[in-house]
Amino acid sequence: MPIDATLPYDDQNIFAKILRGEIPCKKVFEDDWALAFHDINPQAPTHVLVIPKGAYVSWDDFSGKASDAEIAGFVRAVGQVSRALGLVEPGYRLLANIGMDSHQEVPHLHVHVFGGKPLGPMLMR
Ligand code: AMP
Repeated sequence: MPIDATLPYDDQNIFAKILRGEIPCKKVFEDDWALAFHDINPQAPTHVLVIPKGAYVSWDDFSGKASDAEIAGFVRAVGQVSRALGLVEPGYRLLANIGMDSHQEVPHLHVHVFGGKPLGPMLMR
């Protein structure tokens, strides 16, 4: 079910539980600002999610309320993860779903990193 990204942060969401170590994940990266792990239902040979450590529902929430240090740390983490996965030379795709029309399902900001094959043009149905 898509979520309403304007609602307050729900600390029982699945990524909050992963951050607290209550649910396992296949971790690929962690620093003070971000955690990255493999998506449980991959849509490409490489499909990793990068999440900020702070409690933000969406890109809108994060970009409006996070500190400059949190924003810089998260953006750099996405780049570090993508480089560490060897995706820069072949190329990759970033995606962040925000709210109902994009079908965001988990109400904690996450950036999808897709790669590992030619992804083709981005198609909107
Ligand atoms: P979105 O539609 O952008 O909110 O994407 C949520 C993503 O989270 C989906 O690609 C799911 O497969 C993924 N997902 C949900 N639960 C888990 C989990 N426990 N571990 C890893 N990925 C998850």
